[in-house]
Amino acid sequence: MKSVLETINGGAEYLGKRGIGEARRNMEHLLAHRLGCTRMQLYTQFDRPLEEEILAPLRESLKKRGEGIPLQHLLGSVGFHGRDFLCDARALIPRPETEELAEMILKLLPEGPLEILDMGCGSGVLGLTLAAERPDSHVTLADISEDALSLTKENAEKLGIQNITLVRSDLFSSISGRFDLIAANLPYVPDGEAAEMARELRHDPALALFSGADGLDLLRRFVPESFGFLKSSGLLALEIGHDQASHVRSGLESCGFAETEIRRDLSGIARFPFARHP
Ligand code: GLN
Repeated sequence: MKSVLETINGGAEYLGKRGIGEARRNMEHLLAHRLGCTRMQLYTQFDRPLEEEILAPLRESLKKRGEGIPLQHLLGSVGFHGRDFLCDARALIPRPETEELAEMILKLLPEGPLEILDMGCGSGVLGLTLAAERPDSHVTLADISEDALSLTKENAEKLGIQNITLVRSDLFSSISGRFDLIAANLPYVPDGEAAEMARELRHDPALALFSGADGLDLLRRFVPESFGFLKSSGLLALEIGHDQASHVRSGLESCGFAETEIRRDLSGIARFPFARHP
């Protein structure tokens, strides 16, 4: 038997040696998950002895984490704007930047019932958050990936969100109608970056990450098509890569969008283009 503290220390050392960043935080999450408590609650029970029943499966997940399986896949869920979403290899692991995007959008949305589209919904975090926060509105969540849509469906059921429609669509191929808001976190990573990516990112579906030589293939298709699916004064809100702002800005402007603005993320990167249908 080992105590909670000894287990945390040992696990953090193990992960550290395998090059895992924030090894102690990772270890605390894995143990808290195993014990069914929060990370903070671990601190009040450092002396608690842990039986082999707890330690054996913990060693298994520790080994996987050491091999570069993402923490979020081992925990099976991820927090996003105050809700827990299921998270697995069917879709991109939700990123903190996308949570920032959700918060910016919620502040900008006008009052009243809206028609909203989340294009490339993945696990559903963005569109389902908007649906949950705006129960008077209707959100269409679209993705080309059946896997992603099945995860979105499970998340909607788990969270009891019903003001939604799920559509399998290659961008707008199966979308009809016009929207007050179109939000999209499409794949935007250049193909060539695959080799130098962190081990964890190889567990995200390639379909959700890569988009041609400069990462902009899908956005180049998406931006002009989106124009015709927005109502007058409708808002487009995007997430893009760290060096794509000027390309995307000129794309938006040449398609006739107005009020183009590229907002920065918490790291200061021009990450979120916003534009309006005139
Ligand atoms: N931000 C993600 C990354 O750099 C990419 C997400 C995306 O392509 N939409 O790993």
